[in-house]
Amino acid sequence: MTCQPGKPGEEGVRVMNERFGTPPRKSERVLLRIPIRVEGKDTLGNEFDETTYTLVVNRSGGLIVVAHLLQQGSTIKITNLKSRISCSFEVVMRAAGSLSGSPEWGVKCLEPEVEIWGVHFPTRTEEPAAANLTHVLLECRECFYREMAALTVEQYRRLAAQSRLPRSCPKCGVIRDWKFAVIEDEPGGVSPALAAPAASGLTPWGEADGRRDKVVAAKLPLEIRLPDGSEETSTTENISESSLCFACNLDMQIGDTVYVSVGLDPPGEQRDIPARIMWRRPTSGKGRTFYGAKLENGNDTGAASYRLSAFGFRRNPAEAIHPKF
Ligand SMILES: [Zn+2]
Repeated sequence: MTCQPGKPGEEGVRVMNERFGTPPRKSERVLLRIPIRVEGKDTLGNEFDETTYTLVVNRSGGLIVVAHLLQQGSTIKITNLKSRISCSFEVVMRAAGSLSGSPEWGVKCLEPEVEIWGVHFPTRTEEPAAANLTHVLLECRECFYREMAALTVEQYRRLAAQSRLPRSCPKCGVIRDWKFAVIEDEPGGVSPALAAPAASGLTPWGEADGRRDKVVAAKLPLEIRLPDGSEETSTTENISESSLCFACNLDMQIGDTVYVSVGLDPPGEQRDIPARIMWRRPTSGKGRTFYGAKLENGNDTGAASYRLSAFGFRRNPAEAIHPKF
């Protein structure tokens, strides 16, 4: 199971990689809700067929919601209901916590070359040999092929500033313009697949004009600070103009105000932006917790600098400047 951070089984890999001077990393995960059909046998040996969805995906597997009780080690068939592509998976573990209300399962793909999720996860050798790569889910504007691309700082800034980035498309076979892949366009939640946003009466700013808050998967550097002074460095899992999702070890509760600085600008040029914790989802084992947070004071200068750094634009409510997703 590779979508949970900090698993004990990865220690050997980590030590080995450090010896060779390369940072340890498996394929990047994406919090992505993909409709799927799951077929297999439950713990009683009864065949079932369930329509459900993914929570997290990566190259080698994912975390999925299945109401039926599954046997660890058993094989199930998953069909991506968008692409109709099917693949065999092994049930690796049951997630300890569940906010979806149904059991959640870690599954390992037995045919990873099939790319059942419709996302290409590059291997390390396919990535640029540069430091400080930022992973972003991109989409070819022509064929809609998706890739969890590793971008240099310069490439990310160009993408953010111009809403497009020319690069090779394996499916088209030529250089194409790529854009941020929008993974959700529902208002009010960074990732409703993981948890319903708390009914807190917080009206996300920016929705008064009916515009939806689009979410993209971009792993930007992130500093989180709590009012008591404790802090942690992480990366975002996904971001929108007014919200972000991340994993970290700090213990925060729904409704807490924390301070975040996000983006590729040098730390000295960033501002702490107050954000409200909207939902949390403990990962299983000793892994970190996923949090969803909404920026407070969304139209102040701190939030504007966040949007400039993350998306390359400064959105003044009086101006009709929107990112071109
Ligand atoms: Zn293409």
